[in-house]
Amino acid sequence: MKRKRVVVLGATGSIGDSTLKVAHDIPERMEIVGLAANSNADKLAIAANKSRARAICLVDERKVDVLRSKLDYEPKVFLGEGGLREIARLEDADMVLIAIVGTAGLHPALDAIETGKDLAVASKEILVMAGEAVTDAARAKGVHILPVDSEHNAIFQCLDGRRSEIRRIILTASGGPFREIRASELGSVTVEQALKHPTWNMGPKITIDSATLFNKGLEMIEAHWLFGVPMDRVEVVIHPQSIVHSMVEFADGSMLAQMSYSNMCFPIQYAVTWPDRVANTLPPLDFSTLGKLEFEIPRYDDFPALNLARRAGETGGTLPAVMNAANEIAVAAFLKRQVRFPHIWATVEKVMDRHRTVAHPDLDAILAADQWARAEATAAIGKK
Ligand code: NDP
Repeated sequence: MKRKRVVVLGATGSIGDSTLKVAHDIPERMEIVGLAANSNADKLAIAANKSRARAICLVDERKVDVLRSKLDYEPKVFLGEGGLREIARLEDADMVLIAIVGTAGLHPALDAIETGKDLAVASKEILVMAGEAVTDAARAKGVHILPVDSEHNAIFQCLDGRRSEIRRIILTASGGPFREIRASELGSVTVEQALKHPTWNMGPKITIDSATLFNKGLEMIEAHWLFGVPMDRVEVVIHPQSIVHSMVEFADGSMLAQMSYSNMCFPIQYAVTWPDRVANTLPPLDFSTLGKLEFEIPRYDDFPALNLARRAGETGGTLPAVMNAANEIAVAAFLKRQVRFPHIWATVEKVMDRHRTVAHPDLDAILAADQWARAEATAAIGKK
């Protein structure tokens, strides 16, 4: 079986770390040929020295001397945002795995598709912003979009190609660190508390999104695009143990679920080796220590992110991009302690209310809406 040659964008982050572990675990099936990061030159050099990727990219050009001084071989080095797009087009690569936090992965994703590479998508922002454009482009080029997000990877595994028979998609959510906290206390939670995710170890932006439940809201829209399912058939259930990663209910009422420990190496490996399953060193579930699996309905009124995301997904057009951008600004402000926790969704709602949605937007309209929403959210936060 041929080894898959993979370019990893966002190689120095949490998903990047897990991707490198997977490559190390199944070297006969996966070869890292490209690595890209924003500004962490030291960590990029360490990852490159270990994987021997033949090309690397650092977006922050000012750190190139640090990068070169730490490399113990001579890969091709790309720089800047242009470099990120070039490495996404790397010759003789089969797949580009996008794990860049935020929206900077959108153009490289389209570049990868255009050059005929499969896309493994961790960055949910890409499909939330530009689901129509990205899925249309992939269809036109005949390339696959493989979900890395654990929930979507779970659905992908359950579906196994049977899209037409879906009755409901049920995304599981851990509920985050504030699952049991009273609504009246949400205004006084700290950044440190919000960053303590009960079951997953992830980057800061997605960890805050898990606490507000915007992460699940983004995932609802992502599922809608990935699996071509209308928003009203995408539901959310709270499952605090994060063992069942999502479920699909089929036309006959049967439901399939995918289970594993909460370790991103599972979905990353399946995205890379699909449609094959390959032995690895990951720990299988141990039912003697697992205890119970619980499921409960989300507290929609206390965590408005889910309803805001449903509204954005159902309206479509530029509204999901606006929701995503306003949320990014509000999360960054919360992390800088400029706003309190409930101001995150209050800011997003305010910006969404002010937006005039453009239906079936092209890429320029999406990017314009993204910029507009960032400016609106920044202004709204400034007034607090
Ligand atoms: P991290 O914050 O840990 O890492 C982000 C990565 O993106 C880093 O490599 C960073 O480089 C790079 N990066 C940031 N901005 C840019 C830019 N402008 N250009 C190029 N590279 C950039 O994030 P995570 O790994 O947690 O998440 C990555 C994506 O995957 C997110 O979209 C998240 O929603 C999604 N995801 C993450 C999961 C997880 O378990 N962590 C689970 C499911 C989805 P540098 O280090 O140099 O700044």
